[in-house]
Amino acid sequence: MGLVVYTVCPVPPALAAAPSDESVLGERFVQVVAHPDDDLLFMSPDLYGGVRGERPSVTVYLTAGEGTAGLDDHHDPYVYAQDRVEGLRAAYAHLAGVRNAWRSTMMTAGRLSVQVDSLVERPRVMLIYAGLPDGGDPRVDGGRDALTRLWAGQSCVRLFGGADRPCVHREDVVRLLRAIYRKYHANVVRTLDPAPPPRCRMCDHPDHVASARFAAAAAEGEQVRLVAYRGYPMTVWAPNVPRRMRELKREIFGIYRSHDYRARSGWHYGAWFERMYKITETRTPGGASGHSTPPGGWVPGVRASRGGGPSAPGRAAAPGPPCPDGRHNGP
Ligand SMILES: [Zn+2]
Repeated sequence: MGLVVYTVCPVPPALAAAPSDESVLGERFVQVVAHPDDDLLFMSPDLYGGVRGERPSVTVYLTAGEGTAGLDDHHDPYVYAQDRVEGLRAAYAHLAGVRNAWRSTMMTAGRLSVQVDSLVERPRVMLIYAGLPDGGDPRVDGGRDALTRLWAGQSCVRLFGGADRPCVHREDVVRLLRAIYRKYHANVVRTLDPAPPPRCRMCDHPDHVASARFAAAAAEGEQVRLVAYRGYPMTVWAPNVPRRMRELKREIFGIYRSHDYRARSGWHYGAWFERMYKITETRTPGGASGHSTPPGGWVPGVRASRGGGPSAPGRAAAPGPPCPDGRHNGP
């Protein structure tokens, strides 16, 4: 039985973005994303309010984001994954306006033990790395789309790095996220898009979809508000981020980007700085967990917020529509 409520956004995203550096007193945010930059690209500028407003803000990165580093170039994928962490740390510290100094601890939930970084001068700003393999990495047991397979419950998946690499099951990820929601008393959970529009000029990354479904499944029965954000499909929609926020978004991402050699080029980044689309949904009463119902408990009839795009997402049996080659290398 769901206590989960998907926010119905009462205002167009262009307006919703404007007050984003004024978070509401009492909000405690957890962001769940697939890759180490999804928050900066698809949840910003909303993300900024919690961090700059000194609210609790915890971002969970489900994959290490190694992609095909080391396969199509000579970079060490483990070094690259760590570079991305450094980029996130620098970006968040800059956003919070404090020194780039972090304290790392470990958190264990079930069979998963994950690193938790907290900003020394703003300890309620935290980054958590689950370390699952990136969906674009074919070196993983079972090949690409590890997160999607994990969500589908088809197999367990070994973590990307580390000496001890347990084979993680779907329930381990759900349990971890739920433990994070509870530990940090989250009342707002931000996710990517659990059900991208089926007919869209740009499809989404399957990791984004799977991460959003995990986040929603973990929220089942918890008293949290879920807010979802469009990924790639928003690229060709109308810009809606106010100019001042675009510049801030460009600046914050630029700090991250200086640590990510694979994010150094690409026209789409410019498009994403100018856009952020929230989508909204109210879970149907009795909406069950994702096992027997549409993945993530999402149902047909999802309504995009005003200006939310050309088509509302519907039931998606598979994690997103097929994508052209190369989407696995996307951010
Ligand atoms: Zn991504």
